[in-house]
Amino acid sequence: MNLTRREFTGLAIGAAASGAMGWPAFAQPGRWGTFYDWKPVGEAALAAFGAGGNALLVMSGDEAVLVDCKNIGYGLTLRRESKQVYGATLTAVVNTHHHGDHVGGNHAFTNNLPLIAQRNASERIEAWAVGTIKRIESSGEAMEERMLNQMREQAHGPGGAKTGSGDIAQFFDLLPNMKASEFKPTETFQDEHEIKVGELTVQLRHPGAGHTDNDAIVFIPELNLMHTGDLCFNRLHPFIDMNAGATSAGWMRSCDAMLELCDDETVVIPGHGEVMGKAGITEQRQYFEILRDAMVKAQSDGMERTEAVEMTIPQFDGYGFEQIKPRTYAAVFDEMLAG
Ligand SMILES: [Zn+2]
Repeated sequence: MNLTRREFTGLAIGAAASGAMGWPAFAQPGRWGTFYDWKPVGEAALAAFGAGGNALLVMSGDEAVLVDCKNIGYGLTLRRESKQVYGATLTAVVNTHHHGDHVGGNHAFTNNLPLIAQRNASERIEAWAVGTIKRIESSGEAMEERMLNQMREQAHGPGGAKTGSGDIAQFFDLLPNMKASEFKPTETFQDEHEIKVGELTVQLRHPGAGHTDNDAIVFIPELNLMHTGDLCFNRLHPFIDMNAGATSAGWMRSCDAMLELCDDETVVIPGHGEVMGKAGITEQRQYFEILRDAMVKAQSDGMERTEAVEMTIPQFDGYGFEQIKPRTYAAVFDEMLAG
């Protein structure tokens, strides 16, 4: 699907008119027979859904950049399909933060590509990889079977399931010699960084600790396109990683930093959930405003922590990731208590 800017903008405006969080579901089932569901999100830009956080592939000229690497075991598939969908050559890969569902496929790229992340991500990714490799190895064949089944269940199309299963087998062949260092970024930055991909500028900004202490906002001004990493969960309860420096206060500041870069036509890829617009970032900020107020009130009403984490907040009706909710509420309860 080759959308001209005019066609794409037309679709975007149509979507904006269709509802606050609305974004068109570009219909193109199994166009490439891929494992991932690759959806156009701009001119020469595709978001990949499935098997981990949302990834973004952007092409310019014969070069391409990939943002985020999905779950462990799916990296080889991601690398193959990143080439397959556009035929462009990947020249850089970016991680938005250290969590396993965004860096799991890193090993498939670091052998011959620059992989860029915020400085604090490095050590955390390595620690995660040490534990994860050990865990998968010790689970042996049962784990391979489980991952193969998942691959078949999660495949966007039957063609993707078939080639993807081969990738899982190859991953398990590589596993005995796999090193945690293969998952580490090859380049890091502190506050800001910029890379060129063809004619495009890919801006990376670390707004301070929000979802983690190593969040990177990815913004491509020429396409008015943003990948927020997990600084946005679209209508899903967000995971606050307190062990990695996350707070709701910091997260709200990060929302402000993202909002500053956006206008009403910015296409925003959240870490999880459907593609959205600027309004989705505002809604993410409001989530924390509402939750913080609710927890302050709960405390002044003398509510216990165990009770507060089970509270029903009507504004979050219909939000997914229900299993994360008690942890999120607990984190904000503690944060508000600490003042
Ligand atoms: Zn995350």
